[in-house]
Amino acid sequence: MSVDIAKNLKKIRSTLPEGVRLVAVSKYHPIEELEIAYAAGQRVFGESHEQEIAKKQVALPKDIEWHFIGHLQTNKVKYIAPYIDTIDAVDSLKLLKEINKHAAKNDRVIKVLLELHIAEEATKYGFTLDECRAVLDEGEWREMKNVRICGLMMMASNVDDEEQIRREFNVAADFFDEVKAKYFADDEAFCERSWGMSEDYRIAVKCKSNMVRIGTSIFGEREY
Ligand SMILES: *Cc1c(COP(=O)(O)O)cnc(C)c1O
Repeated sequence: MSVDIAKNLKKIRSTLPEGVRLVAVSKYHPIEELEIAYAAGQRVFGESHEQEIAKKQVALPKDIEWHFIGHLQTNKVKYIAPYIDTIDAVDSLKLLKEINKHAAKNDRVIKVLLELHIAEEATKYGFTLDECRAVLDEGEWREMKNVRICGLMMMASNVDDEEQIRREFNVAADFFDEVKAKYFADDEAFCERSWGMSEDYRIAVKCKSNMVRIGTSIFGEREY
């Protein structure tokens, strides 16, 4: 294998500031490659397809913290609810309710991040800042005992312009502070700022990210 997963992990970890968590994005990579990352000490993995994560979860050690990082359809929640640690990309109240329902059925609390749409690309999912404020204002989430909103997640535009990327991350960081102060001031669990991928995590950690989601720089290019 030309990609040295253990070495890549070590290199990335050495560049991350203290307190920044690494989600190893293993989507489309075979179980053997996750095993290499696991042997190198990685315990947090991110996947984006319900069937793929199900297979991997069964095959791999049970102390892995699985994150669902992709767009999740409400009718798929029930499949991952028994074991998923965090659902990183909640982008509707409907999805949040569905997660709460299935977490309750499994007698668990599932952590979630609210996904923000800040990037300029029209195709990306996520709440606009106003939509996010509206959901939090509406308050139904406070009654959901089986989900814990732990923070915010977003993707910057896929562009070369570092200034634009920085601007988008800073919008997210400012919005985190606003939401934290207004709704979660007394809630220690609300602390996650998940932004930064292979191409832009170095910028993200300078813009207050404390959870980067990195795939390609660990496992190499994905084969779809
Ligand atoms: C695929 C994916 C990543 C990882 O992207 P890389 O460029 O391979 O590091 C991060 N976050 C999300 C939401 C993804 O879908």
